[in-house]
Amino acid sequence: MGLVGTNPILVKEAETYSTCKHFSTIYYIMQPFNVYPLYDITPIKASGSTLWDDKGEQYLDMYGGHAVISIGHAHPHYVKRLTEQMSAISFYSNSVQIPLQKQLAEKLGELSGLPDYGLFLVSSGAEANENALKLASFHTGRKKTIAFKSGFHGRTSAAVAVTDNPKIKSLINDDSHVVFLPFNDAEAVRNAVDAETSAVIVEGIQGVGGIHVATDEFMAAIRESCDEHGAVFIHDSVQCGYGRAGKFFTWELSGVKPDIITAAKGMGNGFPIGGVLISPRFEATFGMLGTTFGGNHLACVAALSVLEVIEKENLLENATEMGEYLMNELKDIPGIKELRGAGLMIGIEMEMPVADIRKKLLFEKHVFTGVSGTHTLRLLPSLALTKADADTFLKAFRDIMNL
Ligand code: PLP
Repeated sequence: MGLVGTNPILVKEAETYSTCKHFSTIYYIMQPFNVYPLYDITPIKASGSTLWDDKGEQYLDMYGGHAVISIGHAHPHYVKRLTEQMSAISFYSNSVQIPLQKQLAEKLGELSGLPDYGLFLVSSGAEANENALKLASFHTGRKKTIAFKSGFHGRTSAAVAVTDNPKIKSLINDDSHVVFLPFNDAEAVRNAVDAETSAVIVEGIQGVGGIHVATDEFMAAIRESCDEHGAVFIHDSVQCGYGRAGKFFTWELSGVKPDIITAAKGMGNGFPIGGVLISPRFEATFGMLGTTFGGNHLACVAALSVLEVIEKENLLENATEMGEYLMNELKDIPGIKELRGAGLMIGIEMEMPVADIRKKLLFEKHVFTGVSGTHTLRLLPSLALTKADADTFLKAFRDIMNL
């Protein structure tokens, strides 16, 4: 009965049907393709940084659904704008005027301090990096790409090729054009970038790799090497961008401006949208890039309302303040080896493995957190996290650590 999956109720039904004489064929029931190890928790309602499950239990969300919830769950402005748009028009293809795309580009240019950049809209982070890498290769006519150890850029073809994880690459994900260098090694960058190089792709703060912030010297070396050899500097801000680190994009931490910036996650507060911000030195031609869903009406309204809330509620300032508060309170807790990050992108590296701590936080204290590797807890809460929420987390963490 393996064909009907592992759900015992469905298996029982299938056995009943298959032994009935009117049914001689096997009875199939489609199941989700089982690629995610799941917690037995079913959230059905959310508001701000709070989730409720189907049993009425309340949870604190210190993970933002993997850095996606930027302005808070079910923000009233976001809900209103999306609901109104849904009743008007949800989708039409990129063959007609969609003024919302221009409004979004204008607002994003203004808030990110990149008004001269162009915006290409997609639906996910991998797709944003895929298009950034392709654009770089179109522009330079080259293939060699520099990426970094422990970096993560997504699971589609070009994006997974520059991701340092052989386990998620299949035979068709050729990465023979990619050179992986140690993160934050400026000298290695200077030695590796050459006249064959199409692009250097790097996260401003490595997320999946364990919350490691790029140094100013490293960013400057990438910029200088790309300029010297005519290569393209791609800054993957999918996880660390959109205010998460207290700056709109993390290139601002070093002040070194990239040629292309990719965004997704927090951009739509849960509505799937990604963006490629493109320096004015790239020229667009018809058909060069394209997508069915990218830039649809609903996605644009989701992203616009996120920007409106970020601006109105000063969420960059809040992320900076709350991040500093958490770091400050955490720094004296015994068992912590190192605290890394910026704003509300925080890595807590522990002296012991963190799997058990994360489980206890979730099941005993009802607090969602994330992990990177075996020893680092990851905090990626909403940028609107309140001090009361931060204190709830700190108390839960201290309790788990028996302090
Ligand atoms: N880039 C970075 C830095 C990420 O953290 C992720 C996802 O975790 C991606 C790209 C891929 O984004 P998506 O899962 O939306 O394709």
